[in-house]
Amino acid sequence: MFTTPFLDLPPLASAEGSVRLPGSKSISNRVLLLAGLSAGTTVVHDLLDSDDTRVMLAALRDLGCGVDADGSAWRITGLGGRLATREASLFLGNAGTAMRPLTAALAVLAATQNGRFELRGVPRMHERPIGDLVDALRQLGCNITSLGQEGFPPLRLAAADTRLNTAQPIRVRGDVSSQFLTALLLALPLVSAEHAVTVEVDGELISKPYVDITLNLLARFGIQVQRDGWQRFVIPQASAYRSPGSIHVEGDASSASYFVALGAIAAFDGRALRIEGVGDDSIQGDLRFIDAARAMGADVRSGPGWLEVRRGAWPLKAITLDCNHIPDAAMTLAVMALYATGTTRLDNIASWRVKETDRIAAMATELRKLGATVVEGPDFIEVSPPATWRAAAIHTYDDHRVAMCFSLAAFNPLTTSADAAPAARGVPVRILDPRCVAKTFPDYFETLFGVAQPGPAGVPVITIDGPTASGKGTLASAVAQALGYHFLDSGALYRATALSAREAGIADTDEPGLAKVAAGLQLAFHDQRIWLAGRDVSDDLRQEHIGAMASKVSAWPAVRQALYELQLSHRRLPGLVADGRDMGTVIFPGADLKVFVVASAAVRAERRHKQLISKGISTSIDDLRADLEARDARDQNRAVSPLKPAEGAKVLDNSALTIDECVKAVLDWWASSQTFG
Ligand code: C5P
Repeated sequence: MFTTPFLDLPPLASAEGSVRLPGSKSISNRVLLLAGLSAGTTVVHDLLDSDDTRVMLAALRDLGCGVDADGSAWRITGLGGRLATREASLFLGNAGTAMRPLTAALAVLAATQNGRFELRGVPRMHERPIGDLVDALRQLGCNITSLGQEGFPPLRLAAADTRLNTAQPIRVRGDVSSQFLTALLLALPLVSAEHAVTVEVDGELISKPYVDITLNLLARFGIQVQRDGWQRFVIPQASAYRSPGSIHVEGDASSASYFVALGAIAAFDGRALRIEGVGDDSIQGDLRFIDAARAMGADVRSGPGWLEVRRGAWPLKAITLDCNHIPDAAMTLAVMALYATGTTRLDNIASWRVKETDRIAAMATELRKLGATVVEGPDFIEVSPPATWRAAAIHTYDDHRVAMCFSLAAFNPLTTSADAAPAARGVPVRILDPRCVAKTFPDYFETLFGVAQPGPAGVPVITIDGPTASGKGTLASAVAQALGYHFLDSGALYRATALSAREAGIADTDEPGLAKVAAGLQLAFHDQRIWLAGRDVSDDLRQEHIGAMASKVSAWPAVRQALYELQLSHRRLPGLVADGRDMGTVIFPGADLKVFVVASAAVRAERRHKQLISKGISTSIDDLRADLEARDARDQNRAVSPLKPAEGAKVLDNSALTIDECVKAVLDWWASSQTFG
C-alpha cells in the first residue's frame, strides 16, 4: 500500500493481464454482522481486508463475539441474539457499512436487554445523516440519543422504557440511502419472536441492488424476508439467524469497475484484461456497470467468477444514463467520459452528495483540473472531455473511489495520435493521499501497476551517483520512500557478486568466472532487506572486505555487462530511484533527474568511522581514508563505466548537510522538474 503524501502516475499507454479483486465491501460487512448475531461459528473466506472491515471486526470483538484469524479465513463466533457485553463505546471510522447496521442491531439489543452503547466515527462520519434510521428505530420504541447534532452520529443507544412495538409496520425513508433499510432488515429478526416484523419504505427506494444483496445474505443465514415490490418487507415471526457454517465473499463489483474501464480504454491490439473474483453469477448489483461500460464501447465477456475486457470502440461513446442502480460504480463512468466523443450525462445520483464526501462536487472539481468541461446539478453531472489535458494534482477527499477512478486519467496519451510531438506525449496525474484506497482496495495501485504499461516517456527514473561513503544510498532510499518509487541499490549487485564468488572460491581476477556468478545471481529485495538465494545477506553485504572485493570485481567489463539487464529490470511503475556509480552515465542515461553526490574524503572517512564504531568495529580513520581513496581511484580510472557526473547531473555537495537536507534538496529538484499546477 502507498502511504506517501502523493503518488505520481506517469502517462500510461496500455494495459494487459490478469487481476484478482479483493472481497466485496458490502458483502463483507453484512456477513460479519450476520455471523456476529448468529449462534455458533461462521468461517468467512475471502473477506475484504480493509479499513471498513477492520472497524467491523474490532466492533464485534468489543461486543464479545469470537473473532479469530484462521489462515486467510476468519472464524466469527456470534452472540446468538444475547448481549455478551452490556456496555461498549465503538469507534467506527468512516465505515457507513458498519455504522448503520450496528446502530440498528445495537439499538434493539440495548432496548430489550438493558444495554448502553456509544457509536462514533471520524469527523466526516459525524456529517453523514442517519436521522431516517434513528426515526425508524424510535417508532419501535428504541432509546437513541444524538450526542452531537440531531440526526447524525455520534449516537447513544440505551435501554427502552417500554416494550418494543413490533406489531405496527415500521416506516423508513428509502430515498436518501438504502443502507437504512438494509440496517433494519439485518437487525429486526432479533425482535421477531412475537410477531412478524414489517418494514414499509416511504418514497422511491434508491440503490435497490444493495437491498438485494442484503436479502440474499439474510437467506444464507436462514432468514427469508418476504418482499412486496420495493415498498414492503416482512420478516416472518420467530426468524432466527442460522450460521451457514462457512461462507465465501465474492470479489467487489464496484472495484471491478476500474478494471472494466481500464480494459475498455487500454486493452487494444490483441490485449485483454481478465478480472478474477466476480462474474455473471454475482449477487452484486454493481455488476450492471458492465452494461453501461458496454454502451460506452467496452467489449466484455463473462463467466462464473470472471470477466474479460477489451476495447470495443475508440474513442469511447458518450452516454446519458440514470445511474440510480449503480451509484458507486457510476463514478468510474465519469472518468471514462474523458475518453468519449461528446458529453456524458449521469442522472439520478443525488446519493453521491452524502457518501464519503460530496462526490458530485468532488468529481466536478477534479475533472475540471484535468481540463474537462463539467456541469453539475443537485442530482446529475455532465462531463465533456478536455480539449487539452493538463497535469493535475487530484485531491481525493479521503474517498477511496475518487482516488481509484482518477488513476484512469493517466491513460491520456491514448487521446493523442502515435506520431504526436514529444510535448504531446501525455501528462502525469498526481493522486494526493493515495492511502485512502485502503477503505476497500489496499493494493489498488500495485494491482494497476501490475497490468499497466507506461507511455512513450517510460517509467520515471531518478539516478543518484557518487563515490563510496558519500551517503548516496541512504539518500536514494529516502527519496524512493518519499515518492513511493522502487529503489535500486546497484552497489548491492556488485557486493552480492563478490560475496557469492568468495563463497564459491572464485578469485577476484577470474573475469569469466565472476561474470558467470553475476549472471546467475538470485537476488531479491524486500522488507528493506536483501536476499540471496533465499538467505538474508543484508549484513554480510555491508562488510568492509566484501565492499573492497566488490570494488575490484566491478572493474571487469564482463561483470558489468552481466548485471546490465538485471539493473534495467528494476525500472518498474510507478518509478525508480537508482544509486551507484554509473546509474546516470550508463544504465539510465535518459533518467528524468540525475544527481551526483560529493563529499570530501575526510568527511566520508569520518562518517564511515562513526558507522563502524557504532557496530563495535574498531578501525583508524587514516586507514579508512586511504581505503576510500583507493576505491575512488579504481572507480574513476577504470576503462568501463568510470565514476563521473553524468551529463546534466545536479551536483550535491553534502559535506555540511544533514540527510534530511539532502533529501529535501533532491525532492525540490524533482518537484521543479514536474508540471503539476
Ligand atoms: O555503493 P557500494 O559501496 O555498495 O558499491 C560497492 C562497489 O561496487 C563500489 O566500490 C563500486 O566499485 C562498485 N559499484 C560500481 N557501479 C555501481 C555501483 C557500485 O562499480 N553502479
